[in-house]
Amino acid sequence: VWFDLNQAVQETIQDLQATTHKHILVMDFKDTGKIYSDKERIGQVITNLVTNAIKYSPHSNRIIISTMREGNMVTVCVEDFGIGIPDDKKEKVFEQFYRVSGSKQHTFPGLGLGLYISNEIIRREGGKMWVNSTEGKGSTFCFSLPVADEIATDV
Ligand code: ATP
Ligand code: MG
Repeated sequence: VWFDLNQAVQETIQDLQATTHKHILVMDFKDTGKIYSDKERIGQVITNLVTNAIKYSPHSNRIIISTMREGNMVTVCVEDFGIGIPDDKKEKVFEQFYRVSGSKQHTFPGLGLGLYISNEIIRREGGKMWVNSTEGKGSTFCFSLPVADEIATDV
């Protein structure tokens, strides 16, 4: 369906904010316009990324969710200031059942499926997902989706 990406992100964030008092979900939205995609699944991806940001930030409370449009791509990023990911594990986190083992960190519960599923959803919708991270400082997970042709917006 056609939907306003910022509105969908905002709705998802509002639901998630209600589940955490400790973390503050900050929104930094640029105009994205409407996209043609699977709204429910995109919401699920945002939920997975923000849930991770919360879970892997036990000692910081700010999470920044930003959106932007560049040309015919829209991008959503979720930035946290948590435990971060070691350089050699960054590609692996998108694999099925992969979890970074928590050395001196707490052990965080999970199956290692959230990012695998999220990455698959974005790939099937024609987009891509990536991560920037510094161990001990935080992580930024982003995904981009194509904006469908203008001509189709009249439908
Ligand atoms: P679940 O299936 O419940 O989502 P999970 O959170 O362990 O379990 P993924 O969401 O796929 O699984 O994440 C895979 C691994 O990547 C995590 O176990 C964690 O080690 C690492 N990771 C994911 N997001 C972050 C983050 N924001 N900061 C630090 N590490 C992260
Ligand atoms: Mg997860």
